[in-house]
Amino acid sequence: MTPIISKLPQTGTTIFTVMSALANEVGAINLSQGFPDFDTPPRLVELVNTAMKNGHNQYAPMPGVMALREQIAQKTERLYGAVYNPETEITITAGGTQAIFTAITAVVNPNDEVIIFEPAFDCYAPAIKLAGGIVKSLELSPPDYRIPWDMVRRLINNKTRMIILNTPHNPTATILQQEDIDELSAIVKNQDILILSDEVYEHLIYDGETHHGMARYPELQKRSFIVASFGKPFHATGWKVGYCMAPAFLMQEFRKVHQFLVFSVNAPIQYAIAEYLKDENTYLSLPDFFQQKRDHFRKGLEQTRFELLPCAGTYFQSVTFNNITDEKDSDFALRLTKEFRVAAIPTSVFYTQGTDHHVLRFCFAKKQETLDKAVDRLIKL
Ligand code: GLN
Repeated sequence: MTPIISKLPQTGTTIFTVMSALANEVGAINLSQGFPDFDTPPRLVELVNTAMKNGHNQYAPMPGVMALREQIAQKTERLYGAVYNPETEITITAGGTQAIFTAITAVVNPNDEVIIFEPAFDCYAPAIKLAGGIVKSLELSPPDYRIPWDMVRRLINNKTRMIILNTPHNPTATILQQEDIDELSAIVKNQDILILSDEVYEHLIYDGETHHGMARYPELQKRSFIVASFGKPFHATGWKVGYCMAPAFLMQEFRKVHQFLVFSVNAPIQYAIAEYLKDENTYLSLPDFFQQKRDHFRKGLEQTRFELLPCAGTYFQSVTFNNITDEKDSDFALRLTKEFRVAAIPTSVFYTQGTDHHVLRFCFAKKQETLDKAVDRLIKL
């Protein structure tokens, strides 16, 4: 057979799979891929069981269970003031990644340019390339990873179709500020530029800071796909359920792709989450819950030779390791996993050029004892 011409010749296996597999193989504490090691709320599990027992085991409607879409619309209006029509503007997806892929596939045409900020979550660029789009990446640097808006301005031309944002940001744990929103609004005003806003960590924001999501700003909201997740807030990453919100003219195109990519998402979990979301404390309690973990983990890390970067949101804590070694971050991450048996994510993999700022990312969505055990091992470095 003629060799396949790869559509993604530069793409390997995602770092999350690589590091979790290695962590399992060598029995390391896995602080690499982001997922909790504590239980999913028992009440939510119970609600899934109930939905199954009540017979919600056949196809959900293509855009998602209406009761869930209604809950999402209410929550969004309450929190951010934006009104989304659950009939036409909200779709339940098989997690954030599917929503991102679907949105990009739906609206990026060959040779359209899409601006991303690196380090960038690793599914953005491949999705753009598969759609025939051109990735225009701008590199951000530690410790603050602020977006250089003057450079964004320079990148924009009549081929710019989309800007992808991510707040709170994975892997850097930064959040967009009001100044960023002002700059972005000024840039896109009167332009045919869409926004894809990955907000899967919207509820994981600390120190009383505000989530500057696109739904708060009408000028941005009217051109945005907003992607959200239930796996992160409800400690159930394995369920792979999230959603996308967008104005009807965008959602119409989104659904054309969604219906043939997954058709619909598993029904009982949607019924369960619809019920669970009625209590807003289920998500409003998350900043406190995770901030305690963040603070505990940071205190532990302060006893090591790592240097801590700020963490304003997400459940990731990044560190630099210049006091420890001058190895490449990817080499060091492997050695840390094998020799010290703590797995982390090297940040250079999120840069097209492999830019290495000597930064590792640890996930602190773990039981306190797990974090303590990891710190005990990291102190030995
Ligand atoms: N979002 C998770 C992380 O950053 C992983 C997602 C995945 O494994 N695809 O660790």
